[in-house]
Amino acid sequence: MLDGTLLKEKENQVLDFLFYWGRPIRSGDIAKELNIPHSTLNSVLKRLSKESLIIWEKYRLVNLTSEGMDAASHLSNHHFVIEFFLKDTLNLPDEEAHLQAIHLAGRVKCSLIDAICDKYNFPKTSINFNLCKRRDYPQH
Ligand SMILES: [Zn+2]
Ligand SMILES: [Zn+2]
Repeated sequence: MLDGTLLKEKENQVLDFLFYWGRPIRSGDIAKELNIPHSTLNSVLKRLSKESLIIWEKYRLVNLTSEGMDAASHLSNHHFVIEFFLKDTLNLPDEEAHLQAIHLAGRVKCSLIDAICDKYNFPKTSINFNLCKRRDYPQH
């Protein structure tokens, strides 16, 4: 379940990105990829680390813990399903749908995602990677 601790925008964005990246990464590279100032990213990483979602020590690589992996894949699945829904119902362009979906992913309840999955006959238990057209997701 997504809980209140995951409702912060930047935390969600970083978790979603780490799921996509699929391997350890330098914090400087996250800042570059997501276009987040280093100071903001550092406080986000500190919070994620405090919640045991990532392992990060200064000057070391950032890595998801298994708990973090669960949270990140859950969030990313929300992102994929919302993105598909926005494109299908509103015909939003890929880039707009992608950004809006990442923004919304941690804010909607799982029951909404389930309702969208029901509408399109998507499996609810597995992760629907193929629904994001903006990133080339590795096979997890
Ligand atoms: Zn996307
Ligand atoms: Zn959910």
